[in-house]
Amino acid sequence: MINGERLTERPLRWGMVGGGRTGQVGYKHRTGAQRDGTYKLVCGAFDLDAERGRDFGVNLGVEANRCYADYKELIAKEAAREDGVQVVSIATPNFSHYEITKACLEAGIHVICEKPLFFTVAECEEIGKLADQKGLIVGVTYGFTGHPLVRQMAAMVAKGLLGDIRIVDLQYTHGFNAGDDVGASEALKWRTNPKTAGPTFVLGDIGTHLYYLSEIVLPHLKIEKLLCDRKAFIPSRAPLEDHATVLMHYDNGARGRLWVSSVNAGNMGSQRYRFVGSKASVEWSDSHPDQLLYDVQGEPNRILHHGMPYLEEESLAIDRMGALHTEGLGDSWSNIYLWIAQAIDAKKRGDEGFLKTHHYPGIKAGTEGVRWLENCVRSADAGSAWVDFA
Ligand code: NAD
Repeated sequence: MINGERLTERPLRWGMVGGGRTGQVGYKHRTGAQRDGTYKLVCGAFDLDAERGRDFGVNLGVEANRCYADYKELIAKEAAREDGVQVVSIATPNFSHYEITKACLEAGIHVICEKPLFFTVAECEEIGKLADQKGLIVGVTYGFTGHPLVRQMAAMVAKGLLGDIRIVDLQYTHGFNAGDDVGASEALKWRTNPKTAGPTFVLGDIGTHLYYLSEIVLPHLKIEKLLCDRKAFIPSRAPLEDHATVLMHYDNGARGRLWVSSVNAGNMGSQRYRFVGSKASVEWSDSHPDQLLYDVQGEPNRILHHGMPYLEEESLAIDRMGALHTEGLGDSWSNIYLWIAQAIDAKKRGDEGFLKTHHYPGIKAGTEGVRWLENCVRSADAGSAWVDFA
């Protein structure tokens, strides 16, 4: 169980680019980072509007002279300080992730970046090499993958409790964009423009969460081929999609289907994962994050509850609230930020042994998400053809 005790040399001097007053995801970063005192927010370029960003930063408790107009000023001024920032989180629209990450790494600053990480695998690989050369960590915030019941599913699969994996069923849908884009928010405008969002809308925006979580649960399975069908039900969003289905063939013969949509009118259901094996299935959804369905063929269905002693050690070790209380998204983000802090700590110590076995969403997780997107787009653009996973 995690109870806030010191697990790293702390606190890391932490800054944010983006995630300002009007940003959707900024608070999740601050919740995650500051939970255990592992990170201390010392600076930021929080907003495209520099004045609003400064005012916001001061309200968060950051010194006014460390609330910068943009990331370039942040890097230049922080580099000149003895107590300068050590790690920066990037919570800006997708198109700026690459340039901000690169500039931070070149200045010797660790990075925690939003997904989808960059636009291309080539960019991911270049940044991976740069991070290696500099001895720095790049973390990626796949928000719900720090939940104890995600670890539980992975442990049950690893123990063989499900038998051979046959079916992977993934869904992340909502209906918030079912209407047209007249008067759309800034957040929706940049998401539906290829220049700012990249080659996908919902596949990158929500599909990458599904894909990474499935990789955690099924690390031994690789996709051999996939077929992606994508569509913009609101025509102004084309060529980007507001709805997509992806069929996947895995190298053990398993079959997968994945559905992402932001036009699933009336749906608040969010994420759902079902992994079906030859003996049993597990199913988890963030609508009921405390509960894991465990369906053994021929036996009464079971609901496993987070924090209970019958769960696997790996799950209990990262539980924060205990079984009597709800464990949710904020707790998951805290775990992800903690794991990234432990990776940074190990990197600073030169402890490559620790890093080999330490589990956190890093550059590889970010790269694989972008690789999956590239394959989806290649298939969709070929008329929803089956493509070998490259
Ligand atoms: P948003 O449009 O709501 O907010 C973006 C914020 O960044 C705003 O405060 C804006 O002023 C600021 N900003 C934009 N460009 C900037 C720049 N160059 N320098 C400084 N500040 C800048 O967007 P959002 O929904 O918060 O999404 C941001 C990123 O987070 C995207 O990559 C998105 O995919 C990702 N995201 C991830 C999750 C998750 O669960 N991990 C959830 C939502 C969004």
